[in-house]
Amino acid sequence: MMYRKNAWEQLAEGEKARLNAFADAYKKYLDAGKTERECVAESVRQAKEAGFVDMMELIREGKAIKAGDRVYRNWMNKCFMAFVIGENDIERGMNILGAHIDSPRIDVKQNPLYEEENFAYLDTHYYGGIKKYQWVATPLALHGVFCKKDGTTVILSVGEDENDPIFYISDLLIHLAADQMGKTAAKVVEGEQLNIIIGSEPVKENDKASVKKAILAILKEKYDIEEEDFISAEIEAVPAGKARDVGFDRSLIAGYGHDDRVCAYPSMAAVLDYEGTPAYTLCAVLTDKEEIGSVGATGMDAMYFENTMAELCAAIKGEDKPLTLRRCLQNSRMLSSDVSAGYDPNFAGVFEKKNSAIVGNGVTFNKFTGRGGKSGSNDCNAEFVAQVRRICDEANISWQTAELGRVDVGGGGTIAYICAKYGMSVIDCGVPVLSMHAPWEVISKVDLWEEYKCYCAFLKGAAEY
Ligand code: MN
Ligand code: MN
Repeated sequence: MMYRKNAWEQLAEGEKARLNAFADAYKKYLDAGKTERECVAESVRQAKEAGFVDMMELIREGKAIKAGDRVYRNWMNKCFMAFVIGENDIERGMNILGAHIDSPRIDVKQNPLYEEENFAYLDTHYYGGIKKYQWVATPLALHGVFCKKDGTTVILSVGEDENDPIFYISDLLIHLAADQMGKTAAKVVEGEQLNIIIGSEPVKENDKASVKKAILAILKEKYDIEEEDFISAEIEAVPAGKARDVGFDRSLIAGYGHDDRVCAYPSMAAVLDYEGTPAYTLCAVLTDKEEIGSVGATGMDAMYFENTMAELCAAIKGEDKPLTLRRCLQNSRMLSSDVSAGYDPNFAGVFEKKNSAIVGNGVTFNKFTGRGGKSGSNDCNAEFVAQVRRICDEANISWQTAELGRVDVGGGGTIAYICAKYGMSVIDCGVPVLSMHAPWEVISKVDLWEEYKCYCAFLKGAAEY
């Protein structure tokens, strides 16, 4: 039984080398995927490399999809799904791993560019729950796309290479901050103060100096972008730089977007790494928009997953029977993975220790999330919790259970309740994170490793009950 034990102490002989290799691969994924679009591009690249083919191409060509096939789907460049088709009737459900690939950040507005006292700025609207004061006076990179009227897309990524410039939001100097220091943290830096400095050297035009015009000239030259192209752009300001090891022992990783790529990457990897033909069909679904309520055409609350499953069921069965889809979804089992609040000794007061996710104690299960009396939560059935316990213990996985902080201190939601509406068995699962939603979050390598092992065991071991 490996429940609530220090996971480092439970590692088998020689396991640490595999743990470190997996952590290195994860850091590379984090560096390649600073936005949901970049995560999808990298996931598609890795899926193809692992022999997965685009399921919609097979379907368009009228080809059947059968046991042993390895397929993926890219939805709107913002969601990714991978499947390994199993031997069992698809109506008996799938073993699903789900996570989200959008992370809190600062989005550039549609009419963002302006000039004031020699500075050119981009105006922004933040995305997801952030402490705004954490995003000033720190190096930022700009990632995203400009979609032009002619149908072409220009990809932007500036600030990650050490030779790149970075971008910057200024904070008030301490010398003049007497008023600011007396404000509540929510008001120390306000939303409309999140203006990104992108330049300060003017060009002269008709005897008038303009920094904005100078920046527009650079954008035109480098990217063939006009000011109006910001209207149909999605540009995200994120912390600049790579994920780094933390501590003399290198046991932790500081990175941007652990929430929720620390669950998305191993979910995808567990499906891509699966060898042979499974009993049940395996699925990894990486979704967008969780941080703003799972809304929109790429959020989990949209129809894209259900529609994809309708396509897949029809391609497997060779006929489109609505009941096949209903049964498939209803009979599925899912680890809906999202990060847990790691127990932080510096802020012990908000946690209830017995039911906290301890960093280093392995993969974490949350029977429920929500706030104020479990509101908004998928409170997983005890029968399914028992199955998950058995799977973890049989595979020697270090695991723990947790809830998000002390009762009535706060709370949060995940995508679990959305998938559960089909009747499938869903439990929240993930790893503990320190400083969740901060520009740099911290996780433990051993928790990441136990999470990956858990996903692999779940794909093999989960079944109807
Ligand atoms: Mn999350
Ligand atoms: Mn989050």
